[in-house]
Amino acid sequence: MTLTDNIATDDSARSIIDGPALWPAQAHTPSVLGRQLVIDRGVGSYVFTTDGQKLFDGTAGLWHANIGHAHPELAQVAFDQMRRLETYHIFARFTNDKALALGERLAALSPIQRSKVILNSGGADSIDVACKLARRHWQREGRATKKMILSREFAYHGLHAFGTSIAGLQFNRDGYGTESLVPDTARFPLHDADAIVAMVAEIGADNIAAIVTEPVQGTGGVNPPTPGYLEAVEKICRDNDILLILDEVITGFGRTGTMFAAERYGVTPDLLTFAKGVTSGYAPLGGVLVSPHIWEPFYVDSPDTPIFRHGATYAGHATASAVALANLDILERDGLVERVTELEVVLRNALDGLNARQGEVIDVRVGGLLGGITLSENLSAESIADDLIDLGYISRPLRGNSLQISPPFIVSDDELKGYIDAIETAITDRVNR
Ligand code: PMP
Repeated sequence: MTLTDNIATDDSARSIIDGPALWPAQAHTPSVLGRQLVIDRGVGSYVFTTDGQKLFDGTAGLWHANIGHAHPELAQVAFDQMRRLETYHIFARFTNDKALALGERLAALSPIQRSKVILNSGGADSIDVACKLARRHWQREGRATKKMILSREFAYHGLHAFGTSIAGLQFNRDGYGTESLVPDTARFPLHDADAIVAMVAEIGADNIAAIVTEPVQGTGGVNPPTPGYLEAVEKICRDNDILLILDEVITGFGRTGTMFAAERYGVTPDLLTFAKGVTSGYAPLGGVLVSPHIWEPFYVDSPDTPIFRHGATYAGHATASAVALANLDILERDGLVERVTELEVVLRNALDGLNARQGEVIDVRVGGLLGGITLSENLSAESIADDLIDLGYISRPLRGNSLQISPPFIVSDDELKGYIDAIETAITDRVNR
């Protein structure tokens, strides 16, 4: 089937590209239909299209496949769990053994002492929960004016209602209402703690519930924090009774070389959101780690104790939880978080080499096995990503004419160097065209 096979003409003579029934996500449909890469198989750091093309997965899908693709151990765990019990909900008196076990495991790994763990199905879910809980916290404290959620320019926090409203990428906010979907949000500039101080003074700490930030900004172009930045944000939060929500959906579970980026960058949030790496994408699962000062009032032994009115059928999904536990076993057994620290050095050296290409590469950034490359205006990151596909490599264009580098943790040094070499080749080929 070719693109033109799908073109129908309606009464107004505007052609409609019909295409498959599945509506592609985050896509300008006419640009992608007819040229979609249909992935149907994976092995380790590689995926295969239905046409048989083998691609090095330099982005680990959407930053999720940290242990690599199609791991047989996780498949076995999912199979066994589904044969025993697919899931049972965790509402009121009910719970299930796998969700409970995952809660214990995550609390033990958490950078927050004595965490409670809320489980759900993904990153955007977790942001919704964290923002709701932040507002609920202040309302319960009798400080109901503290509702505002501040986030950062270029931030990505998923695309549910809260994530859309606090998005720092303007195109993700547009079109859902004049101000935003959820009222009472505001954005501050990238890496500028003084601007946050000014914003807090202007809005008033009495109106602010939380600051949400990615430790290393991902979709905004891979922007690791400048030295001292996250500590400064944490201090602003502490000084003003503002909750700090760290969005570790990308960075959680080893991507920056520590289990959580909170450890690497020396900050302790009040709420920490996670998803992707908790299961390496083998099951949809995410959640929130919650500090004692937030959860304790909901655990007081009294008839007057409030309820946090949140939950979902798949919160604490047993199969997803079993898969997460097995994924964490593999991360630990195979020393993959430590391996990220080694790979970061390889990545940094390779990207420094690329950065030496004056004129074509504007900037490179690294924070763990997580890199960004900003290309000059005369090169388009989108075109380079397309060319890379032809060379057998996946990257992804991000904001600011940047390319995403986030392969699985299981890559060899040579595979990682080969990937950056391929990017260099793609750049050279474009320049010489
Ligand atoms: N937060 C961050 C930092 C993310 O990168 C993402 C997804 N890329 C999300 C939240 C949303 O996660 P999900 O796509 O699972 O809803």
